Amino acid sequence: MEHSSHLRPRQQDCRWDAVEHLPYKEEGSSLFKAISRQVLFDEPELACQLRYFEMDAGGYSTLERHEHMHAVMILRGHGVCLVAEEVCAVKPLDLITIPAWAWHQFRANAGEPMGFMCMVNQTRDRPQLPSESDLAGLRANPAIAAFLQTTEAG
Ligand code: MN
Repeated sequence: MEHSSHLRPRQQDCRWDAVEHLPYKEEGSSLFKAISRQVLFDEPELACQLRYFEMDAGGYSTLERHEHMHAVMILRGHGVCLVAEEVCAVKPLDLITIPAWAWHQFRANAGEPMGFMCMVNQTRDRPQLPSESDLAGLRANPAIAAFLQTTEAG
């Protein structure tokens, strides 16, 4: 990553100088919705990346799993997340550890945008998306079934 100084000031809200804002396309398949991505740090010497994801009210991140881990800090807004078999309400500055192979998803269900920082290995495996039978297995847990139906009013 090239930048001209050691400081990249915040512009407004959760946007920063010299950080590309990557809006996600919305998909009909509803794997994710209304979420954007910014890579804040991507230094080979650190061997990790720090990204910032933000969902509009009612948006959600991709439901996925993979071998690599995530270390997450909620930065703004309230919402709910799935980590493995656990559904948790989250608020600003909460910390969430996503272990290897845990299904995970974040949902901005509180009528406001929700953003989180996510630290990840620079070199990592590709995420797996749930098959129909994976989804059926997840929905067998009533708390997860309710989570997967969560929308803005949830
Ligand atoms: Mn992930």
